Amino acid sequence: MTRPNRPIYLDNHATTPVDPRVLAAMRPWWEQNFANPGSVEHAMGRAAEEAVEDARGHVAALVGAEPSEILFTSGATESNNLAIKGAARFAKAQGTDRLRVVTLATEHKCVLESVKDLAAEGFEPVVLPVRPDGLLDLDLLEATLAAAPTLLVSVMAVNNEIGVVQDLAAVGAIAKRHGALFHTDAAQAAGRVPLDVGAIRADLMSLSGHKLYGPKGIGALYLRRRPRVRLAPLFSGGGQERGLRSGTLPAPLIVGLGEACRIAAGEAPLDAGRIAGQRDRFLAALRAEVPGLDLNAAGAPRVAGNLSLAFPGGVTAQEIMQAAPAVCVSTGSACSSAEVEPSHVLKALGLPEARARATLRIGIGRFTSPAEVDLAAAALGAAWRRAIAQRMGAPAGMAGAAE
Ligand SMILES: *Cc1c(COP(=O)(O)O)cnc(C)c1O
Repeated sequence: MTRPNRPIYLDNHATTPVDPRVLAAMRPWWEQNFANPGSVEHAMGRAAEEAVEDARGHVAALVGAEPSEILFTSGATESNNLAIKGAARFAKAQGTDRLRVVTLATEHKCVLESVKDLAAEGFEPVVLPVRPDGLLDLDLLEATLAAAPTLLVSVMAVNNEIGVVQDLAAVGAIAKRHGALFHTDAAQAAGRVPLDVGAIRADLMSLSGHKLYGPKGIGALYLRRRPRVRLAPLFSGGGQERGLRSGTLPAPLIVGLGEACRIAAGEAPLDAGRIAGQRDRFLAALRAEVPGLDLNAAGAPRVAGNLSLAFPGGVTAQEIMQAAPAVCVSTGSACSSAEVEPSHVLKALGLPEARARATLRIGIGRFTSPAEVDLAAAALGAAWRRAIAQRMGAPAGMAGAAE
């Protein structure tokens, strides 16, 4: 995929490119059969509905669910909102006395904000810290659930900044022991690590198309049927998706998500092996350029494509990125990279602020080539040296102003 003058994309946590096979699968549903899958009175509508149901089967198969347990949404942000607020509001309407909603400090903002929003509706949000390696302390979770009746535990599968993989089977077992619902945001996990809703005892699981080489604007929510998990919908409308998510089903996007899940189910282990090879090659090359380069959240299991790297020498990640404009990486989560604040995830690890500001997130993906990782390592190494030289050469006041 390397072309002259084309930037090198190592930001596959923010989003992934659409797999050409996904694009090919979607195309007829834009061009030839554009019918509304709800228009079951006519042939085109019924064909679109069938394509949607095929896709639902592929999504379900990727996570060990039944097709009837999959709802289509606009993405993981919506799935997380629907899971957390929907479960809480339904339980509230039933007069629940379980008011705690427990999550992690390193969750995606859409989970943290959904949980915090519930405070205004009478719930008690509890945001647990993580250990320095980014993992949840399971004893702390156990103690938190033992202390007060808990409605819902929401723990992400794979972190979008530091790539660490939580022990979901252990989290699910603890949640069930205390009678709580278990939701997991698996946006970064699908297609990267095996997922099985039965094995981890999940009641709710969120997925996103554009994190697994599918299209943007489509996602899914797994909703357990046995025993049945009930939600209050966020939207009023035409009653699609069993009344839980009204709105015309975007058949082309759903077909794309289905194809992305089908490919992931078959190729995830191959992807992970190849991507781990590229990661090792990249890290070895960059370490040779940048002595003292350090990995954040080292020691925890992580997905193959992730590196959260703290650069030495007192320069910021932003300075390095400015000096390497051909390399697309990230200083934190994409959603907050416009802010000057260091990322809440790196803060939650307890990293000193200077180290958090000197951290680059690298996301290697299915389409990253060996040539690209070589070029990126060389470019980032040179950029790091330039950033240091610039600091040393800058008037004293200027270096201070960038702190
Ligand atoms: C990207 C991401 C989201 C948001 O997903 P969208 O489909 O873009 O709404 C939520 N959680 C995690 C962990 C993510 O990486």
